[in-house]
Parts: sequence; C-alpha cells; structure tokens
Amino acid sequence: MNDQTPITTGCSDTPVLKQRGQREVFCGLTGIIWLHRKMQDAFFLVVGSRTCAHLLQSAAGVMIFAEPRFGTAILEEKDLAGLVDANQELDREVSRLLARRPDIKQLFLVGSCPSEVIKLDLARAAERLTEIYNPNVRVINFSGSGIETTFTQGEDACLAAMVPMLPNTNERELLLVGALPDVVEDQALQLLSDMGISKIRVLPAHRVDAQTALGPNTVFALTQPFLGDTHAELIRRGARHIAAPFPFGEEGTTAWLRAIADEFGVDQDMFDRVTQAPRARARKAIQAQAKILNGKSIFFFPDSQLEIPLARFLTRECGMKAIEVGAPYIHGDLIGPDLELLPKGPVISEGQDVDLQLDRCRAARPDLTVCGLGLANPLEGEGLSTKWAIELVFTPVHFYEQAGDLAGLFARPLRRKSLLTGFHP
Ligand code: SF4
Repeated sequence: MNDQTPITTGCSDTPVLKQRGQREVFCGLTGIIWLHRKMQDAFFLVVGSRTCAHLLQSAAGVMIFAEPRFGTAILEEKDLAGLVDANQELDREVSRLLARRPDIKQLFLVGSCPSEVIKLDLARAAERLTEIYNPNVRVINFSGSGIETTFTQGEDACLAAMVPMLPNTNERELLLVGALPDVVEDQALQLLSDMGISKIRVLPAHRVDAQTALGPNTVFALTQPFLGDTHAELIRRGARHIAAPFPFGEEGTTAWLRAIADEFGVDQDMFDRVTQAPRARARKAIQAQAKILNGKSIFFFPDSQLEIPLARFLTRECGMKAIEVGAPYIHGDLIGPDLELLPKGPVISEGQDVDLQLDRCRAARPDLTVCGLGLANPLEGEGLSTKWAIELVFTPVHFYEQAGDLAGLFARPLRRKSLLTGFHP
C-alpha cells in the first residue's frame, strides 16, 4: 500500500437492513445429512413427526444403501395429545436402537417442531440416558426445529452441544471447526502440516475417541461462517478464535491460512513454498469460470449464512457485481474480515421479509439470484437465472483445489441460459 492508496473498510460500516418478516428456508434437520457422514460412530435420532422423517428421507435419498446413521422416533397423535408418556416411549426406542447397534458411541437426540410444541425436555432425556448408557454411549441433545433454526444452524447447534463434553487440555493445539468432506479436510491438514503446524484436531471428528480436547492454549479456526453458537461455546471454554476471511477461493484460502500461519510463527518463505503451486492452480481454475461471471450482477437471498464470504469471492475474484447480500444472521466476530474485503455497493440485509425482498429482486433483475428451492422456480418462471443455496453446502467448495468448482457452480446457470436463449455473454 502506498500513501495514496485509500484505506477501505469495504462493507464493514455499511448500515445493515434488518428484516424480521416471513422467511423461506429449510429447518436445521437438514444438517444431519452431512453430519451423519462425518461422524462415523454417531446416530442422529430425530424426535419428530412423519413430516420430519420425510424431509430426511427425501433430502438423503441417495444414502439408502449406506448403513443408516439417522432415524426418526415418530411422535404419534397420542404423544402430541399428551395421552402417553413420550419420555417412556423415547427411552424404549433408544434401548432398542442401542441393543441393535453396539457400534453407536454418540447418540444425538434431535429436537423438532413437534417435540418443541409438546415441550418434550430432550436436555433432561439426554442426561437421563447418559446415566444409563455411560461410558459406552454419550447422549447429547440439540434442536433442529424449524421454529428455532435455519438449515445450517443445525450443524451449529450440534457442534455447540458437543463443546461442553470435550475433555480439557493445556496443550497448545489448533482446532479446525466445521464439518468438511474428508477429501477437503485432508487438503487443509496437509497444507498446515507442510508449514510445520502439527498439533491439529478437528471438530467434528470421525469418532468420539479422536482426542479432540480444549483448553486455554487452544486456538481455533472456523471453516464455516454459520457457527456462531459453537464459536461462543469455544470462547466460554477458554479457547481463542483466529479471525480470518473464510477459505473460499484463492484469496480467501490464502488469507485464512496466513492468519493461522501468523499465529504459529510460520515465516513468509515457508508459507510461499507451501502455497505457491496450489494458489496458481486455483487462480487458473477460477479464471476459466470467471470469463462468464465477469460483469454479471448477483443477488443473495438469506439462506445458508455463506452469503457474505461468497459475495466477497465472486466480486473480488470473479468480477461480479453484488446488488444485495442477504444473510439469515450476521455475526460480526465471524464474518467481519469478509465484510471488510467486500467492495462497497451492495445492500447488506439480515433476516428476511420475503415479499419485500422479492420486490427488490424483481426491480433489480440480477443476472443471477442465489436462493432457496422454494423461491427458485417462481423466479426462473419470471426469466431470472437462479442458483440453489443448498447446493453450496452439499458440494465441496472450500480451499484451493475446489476454488474453480466453486466459481463453476455460479457460472453453470448463466451458461445454461446462454445456451437456451442463444445469447452469448
Ligand atoms: Fe418440518 Fe419442523 Fe420437522 Fe423441520 S423440524 S421437518 S420444519 S416439522
């Protein structure tokens, strides 16, 4: 930076448009779809209705051949009417399940709208069941209900519930927090260990006995921007957060790694040696997709909480112009570094008032709209190109090797439109 370079704070001082109206998003049960793949000795028992069971079945349809690690304890009408003791029924279900499946070491009781409506105390149920099955099985509860959570908040609620159970340590360790596909997590671990950072744990780990522990010398880096409650629980346990932009794209990944490298005293030469080749690969892969994205406008409806880091990536690395960036919640401690880098200009909105937001979107007629499944079809019907927010959570998109694929997810609908209309951008 020279003396003439203006100091920019990006969008960090842009007033946030707060909306508190009707919202159109999935509930937190959706998170079970990726969490159950990650935690191989866990079982997620949703205490809910047939609707909850259908949501999981259809969202996880492809998992039908896998050993199931989730299920639903269905609350029938007599439970909802208070005619039977739902706690006794739950205990019976759990006892049957654990007798059949000795491989289960962590049992999550997952609350839903129906269990909340009948005020079934799953925290107390988890305590009671832990006493019965300790030390073989750890029973933890969290809520995935649509009353309390939007879809990525399910993972946040799950990890936040796990933090108080982690053992203490005084070791100086790095904790990576957030469920990533194994291949992506391995890439991050490899880059960090190539820099000489060796004591690394992950949350969630594959297994309960993975030695993930916490203490005053733990520093942690988040890989997902939706982990606000988990962040608060980790701070409560004395761990320290390494704030950084999230590792999306070449720039975000480099800044995220640099923040960790600085914490562990990695010098610039070593950092460059480790990151040079993957950075070059990422830049090249992004450029190939950016040809179609460059100059296009984008509008984000609030959905996954990935919106602000993704807008930063798309504007700075792909040449897009953000019109509105909506997020369900904005945690300054988590996405502050991304907001600082996001070029001024877009409306930053928090929460949702879906009709008003649809009006703004229709008036702006963006080239691409990122939204939930429920809004995508009507908007497509009105001639707008859309991207389903849920795909961004189900697809490997973090770190250098996935940066081109991430840009490609946004380029694809625009390419499809150009093929259908014969209009070549
Ligand atoms: Fe529907 Fe609520 Fe069940 Fe989610 S938790 S599937 S919103 S009933």
